[in-house]
Amino acid sequence: MARICDRFIEEVKQRYPYEPEFLQTVEEVLTSIEPVLQAHPEYVESGIIDRLLEPERIISFRVPWVDDQGKPHVNRGYRVQFNSALGPYKGGLRFAPNVYPGILKFLGFEQIFKNSLTGLPIGGGKGGADFDPNGKSDAEIMRFCQSFVTELYKYVGPNEDDPAGDLGVGGREIGYIMGQYKRLTNQYDGTFSGKGTENGGLAGRTEATGYGIVFFAREMLKHYGDTLEGKTVVISGFGNVAWGTAQKLEQLGAKVIAFSGPDGYILDEDGVLGEKVDYFLDLRNSGKNICAPYAEKFPGAKFFPGEKPWGVKADLYIPCAMQNDVHLEHAKQIVANGCKYYVEGANMPTTNEAVEYLQKHGVAVGPAKAANAGGVACSCLEMSQNAQHIVFTPEDVFAQLEGIMVNIFKQIEDACKQYDLGDNFVAGANIAGFDRVAKAMKWQGFV
Ligand code: GLU
Repeated sequence: MARICDRFIEEVKQRYPYEPEFLQTVEEVLTSIEPVLQAHPEYVESGIIDRLLEPERIISFRVPWVDDQGKPHVNRGYRVQFNSALGPYKGGLRFAPNVYPGILKFLGFEQIFKNSLTGLPIGGGKGGADFDPNGKSDAEIMRFCQSFVTELYKYVGPNEDDPAGDLGVGGREIGYIMGQYKRLTNQYDGTFSGKGTENGGLAGRTEATGYGIVFFAREMLKHYGDTLEGKTVVISGFGNVAWGTAQKLEQLGAKVIAFSGPDGYILDEDGVLGEKVDYFLDLRNSGKNICAPYAEKFPGAKFFPGEKPWGVKADLYIPCAMQNDVHLEHAKQIVANGCKYYVEGANMPTTNEAVEYLQKHGVAVGPAKAANAGGVACSCLEMSQNAQHIVFTPEDVFAQLEGIMVNIFKQIEDACKQYDLGDNFVAGANIAGFDRVAKAMKWQGFV
């Protein structure tokens, strides 16, 4: 039987042939919600899919800034306001040289379903600039952030659009952005999340994404009657997500034995534990974005320049770096290592064919939209804290986060059961995320 989703995938291919990342996520999501489209023809008839595939708005602007030598530069800044059916647009800002509308559309599209899975009132958006923060001085970063928000502030607000961080945008950048926003608007509000705790930020927001990933992994293992206790883990990246993930894994009795950076990977059979996890922060603050210095500092560890860590044998793999980090050849290595569990920490870190290969070979795959939703969920708690002019304790935050992650896995299990998907958690997450958005869109009429 012809699939309903094919027409939409074909249309996106024709219309946006130069946005491969967007196409990749559209293909993955639409293919997996096919059983819902078959069961609910009204979603197609009422134009929900056509509307879901077009951002409500894309703002594109110039970001002029001057470097420390007085030389002028111009970057391109964007905000993709993808879907506001469930609440104000919510999603991070990414500063990286490869940022262009196709990357932000992929991230914004994923964000719609991720935010829906959290059960919180947040729509989907994403933004950023093709600016490379690596090697820039603090003063340059500040001038860039100020220039960026001097345009962006016109389109954001607590009930309108609430950006946070993403790759290249951490607490420091959000601080500069918020400071200039406040100067321009005279408002001390919760528009930006990921702020420092002195600035209305949420206790635990930095760890939230990683902690959430591990809570999700714990639930996934529980589904198989298994636990994290004593498991060996390979991760990629050493940013906030990897840092929080490694910390929580240690707390729950698992051990990270390898992690990677753009320069290669580190194998540390004794375990990346305690102060070694915190050393991620020093690596990042060095501004060089390399993991090699770890092996000099901790002599038990070995550095493999230019290589990826997926050949290292472990029980669980958690890519926490970038999109499309894990290709088919890596999926083959992971399967050959005899692994049973794979949880995506970064956004779309696995190519579609690699996900398919893992699943076909009996690896349980926890998709990013679900597994890393703890970050944005805590951003929403930050919005709520700011709107109420109160402060949540770390205990409040982590208890709420844990509840949200447990509930996300439960929604996936329910969708898998309802649509007879076995343990295809990727499809289950897409279906559960889609369900809430589709209902909200239908209810709001043809807008
Ligand atoms: N950038 C994170 C994500 O991919 C967080 C977004 C947010 O907190 O708004 O979900």
